[in-house]
Amino acid sequence: MRSARRIAALPPYLFAELDRKVSEAKATGVDVISFGIGDPDRPTPAHIVEAGQKAMADQATHQYPSYYGMPEFREAVAAYYDRRFGVTLDPATQVLPLIGSKEGIAHLATAFVDPGDMVLVQDPGYPVYQTATMLAGGGTFSIPLNEENDFVPRLDRIPQLSVQASKVLWINFPSNPTSAVCTPEFMAGAVKFCAGNDLLLAHDAAYVELTYDGYTAPSALQAPGALDTAIEFGSLSKTYNMTGWRVGWVVGAAPAVEAIGRVKTNIDSGIFNALQRAGITALEGPQDCIQENIAVYKRRRDVVVDALNASGIPVGAPKGAIYVWVPVPEGQTSVGFCQFLLDEVGVVVAPGSGYGHHGEGFVRFSLTLRDDRLDEGMERVLKAMKTS
Ligand SMILES: *Cc1c(COP(=O)(O)O)cnc(C)c1O
Repeated sequence: MRSARRIAALPPYLFAELDRKVSEAKATGVDVISFGIGDPDRPTPAHIVEAGQKAMADQATHQYPSYYGMPEFREAVAAYYDRRFGVTLDPATQVLPLIGSKEGIAHLATAFVDPGDMVLVQDPGYPVYQTATMLAGGGTFSIPLNEENDFVPRLDRIPQLSVQASKVLWINFPSNPTSAVCTPEFMAGAVKFCAGNDLLLAHDAAYVELTYDGYTAPSALQAPGALDTAIEFGSLSKTYNMTGWRVGWVVGAAPAVEAIGRVKTNIDSGIFNALQRAGITALEGPQDCIQENIAVYKRRRDVVVDALNASGIPVGAPKGAIYVWVPVPEGQTSVGFCQFLLDEVGVVVAPGSGYGHHGEGFVRFSLTLRDDRLDEGMERVLKAMKTS
């Protein structure tokens, strides 16, 4: 049999070799501690689980859901935008539920990218923006993120030819993998830049509720004119520890929301209604669970940052997301440093090079592992750095 060329063209899975080494280490009895995966370890709050259980027992939820989601769920998302960001959305035309935001992020390419079209992406960044673009036959231009620009893209430095050749600009704040945050002024500038260059601004807001030290993350839709130019992807996954439930949304410019919806009606049949009801409970029920999550991640962040600084790797404390983005010691590569930590002390971190060319020279520590494991993992890292 012969698979499609577009499959062969996908970049190699950079973590495959590391995964193999981790399995090997485990097989030889090493107690591996993994900072590699960004998947909340804490449970979904009980009141949301109960709402889901109750809804699942109701036969009314058992049939095909509506393609465009339950009106009540779309209204709950619109109400959240009003409350949280002061942004008024029309639930009928500017809100579309997604089977997890990754689903819509990937389908954006089907809706906007023709073969040969180009898309601007942050580098390092979440790999889906690039791979989905490639699957649609398009290509990406990297916008380099580095310490000099505080890991926030300098839109004025993107070559004019790249801008002219592109249809979409992807941004993601707070960012995966760098945990960088941005200002409302940056968002306003991005909207203006996209409006002036006939680009769709696509903002991935997966971590918008997970912020620290008094920082609050803006929505791209708060910027003037955003509802003509921008869409934003949101998700219950990280905010409410619901990665397994697959509930997210895209909101913003109606023509873009409609285009993604049109792709979806031909491919999937929406989110199980019981999960949408649980999603309404998440958005409209008590919100102290978010503050609890933030407190847990903040403590972990401080443990990781303190241990790294104590071991001679200078890092600042990130103001958002659930990662610490760490420069590797002088003279090492991302993958080399990952292997060193695995071989020396059985600790797994993600190589920055897996998130793009400009991620080389960094590794990502995720904060989504149990407190006792995280504490022990950082003691091991300290020990590895002292003896090296
Ligand atoms: C986790 C994550 C998502 C996605 O999540 P869903 O579970 O598909 O809603 C989207 N973007 C980034 C950058 C992420 O890290």
